[in-house]
Amino acid sequence: MLKPRIAKREVTLHILRAFGLHTSKRLGQNFLVDETVVDRIVAAAGVTPGDAVLEIGPGIGTLTQGLAEAGAKVVAVELDRRLVEVLADTLAGYDNVRVVHGDILKTDISREMATASFKVVANLPYYITTPILMAILEQRLPVSVLVTMVQKEVAERMVAAPGGKDYGALSVAVQYYTAPEIAFHVPPQAFIPAPAVDSAVIRCVVRREPPVAVMNEATFFRVVKAAFAQRRKTLANAFKGAGLVAAEAAAILAAAGVDSGRRGETLSLAEFAAVANAWEENKAQ
Ligand code: SAM
Repeated sequence: MLKPRIAKREVTLHILRAFGLHTSKRLGQNFLVDETVVDRIVAAAGVTPGDAVLEIGPGIGTLTQGLAEAGAKVVAVELDRRLVEVLADTLAGYDNVRVVHGDILKTDISREMATASFKVVANLPYYITTPILMAILEQRLPVSVLVTMVQKEVAERMVAAPGGKDYGALSVAVQYYTAPEIAFHVPPQAFIPAPAVDSAVIRCVVRREPPVAVMNEATFFRVVKAAFAQRRKTLANAFKGAGLVAAEAAAILAAAGVDSGRRGETLSLAEFAAVANAWEENKAQ
């Protein structure tokens, strides 16, 4: 279908004016006005006709239009009721798009996406990037790939390797569930209004199996959380903070072959798994 592209500055300004809309900072509304960026997001997600796609926060339909033109079957969840009304107009005629009014964090995604597999593609509202990503990953939905615009610093944390300041609980969780890579960077001028931060599109291919063998995932994530809760502390001290007595912490780390003087931020996923498994075995004793 040939409709004017929404991802243009003048078209977006026209839509905002026509509907008397003011973007909401609180809801993280920064609309894309660069069609190259939209095309690159669609390409990074490898969208082919018939693909089921969940879009989070369609806004005025900018990225949704790119996905629809690529032939995807899109379910787009938008929290702002005013925008749901706008979308009925801007996306009129795309019968491969279904807009759902709601908060993505309260949406029953498996009910909305009743397909064997789907992709998640979004220019995320930055104020809740991490809760959204974690909710999707932890639910173990049948997602093949997530391609999302996030704040550049968040993207760097997601792909960070052990040892640096960017490496933290988010890095471990994202890398446990997916193989992430930064697809490309996006400057503030690509949006209306321009955000105060740089952005990046991150592509996370969801793993079929975790990259490390973990006996109990809850324990694994508890260990990761404890290790980073006080990241300047040694593991032995951080674990004491998490309720272990010193002797137990020392025994667990010894069993895992990890020096108790190390800090959590230096541990690889495999080392976190070894510690978590030793912790689990310690519980069983
Ligand atoms: N996709 C559009 C684009 O690329 O121009 C808009 C992206 S804008 C960064 C984020 C969108 O997420 C806004 O439309 C905002 O209203 C919506 N949003 C914010 N919080 C949400 C939530 N909890 N659930 C669903 N949508 C939300």
